[in-house]
Amino acid sequence: MTRRDLLRSGAAVATATLAPGVTLMAFGGSSAEAAGADAGKRWGLLIDVSKCKDDCSACVSACSEENGWGGGDSPETDAQWIRKLTLTSKATGHQANMPMMCQHCEEPPCVDVCPTGASMKRADGIVLVDKHTCIGCRYCMMACPFKARSFVHEPVINQKSHAPRGQGTVESCTLCVHRVDKGGTPACVEACAAAGHEAIIFGDLKDPTSEIAKRLAAFPSSALRPDLDLNPGVRYTQLGQG
Ligand code: SF4
Ligand code: SF4
Repeated sequence: MTRRDLLRSGAAVATATLAPGVTLMAFGGSSAEAAGADAGKRWGLLIDVSKCKDDCSACVSACSEENGWGGGDSPETDAQWIRKLTLTSKATGHQANMPMMCQHCEEPPCVDVCPTGASMKRADGIVLVDKHTCIGCRYCMMACPFKARSFVHEPVINQKSHAPRGQGTVESCTLCVHRVDKGGTPACVEACAAAGHEAIIFGDLKDPTSEIAKRLAAFPSSALRPDLDLNPGVRYTQLGQG
């Protein structure tokens, strides 16, 4: 058995205790749980940047609270699963705000380069890191063109039972897979709606009757870095008009 095989087999049985009541097996990102994902679906987000307000960070706060990251005192290195960006057009100077997170690529380079199989894509398109097998090499961080992943330098505190974290591993947006697997929506989507903006829609890109699929069919939208042919599950609309 190779070291890679050994690590993979360990993923199926290990139950590491991270904190009282929090184990890695509770994580919706384990390979074993990913095997149950529905290949008939592809989960995605559609973000209307014209509705994203520059004085609002409800999505970032909600993600942090839901998944237990943030609150550190080293902003340069602390993990961040979602961030707000301001884009400025070189041609017109026009500015637009947009939330940026893992784009849940159909062809994810982070998965291609991972030496342990920890970086994985579920059958329903959600890209995750299996904390059982991540060795913290950070190859995936270098491969991701969107700088969507974070290495956990800081000691982990405030862990959530549905999203355990590990110092020395890499993490990124899970699309709130623990909610999605129960029929819910990501925390950022709920928070944006609660703030009155409704800039983010979540849904099944493969279902032509879903709101997200209907909007994608009816209006122009953009994938970030389309030149890379990654076919991300996160799409943006009104990027040029804000
Ligand atoms: S955005 Fe980066 S981390 Fe997310 S799937 Fe694509 S390459 Fe991987
Ligand atoms: S840091 Fe990234 S590439 Fe390295 S083992 Fe972990 S998930 Fe895989």
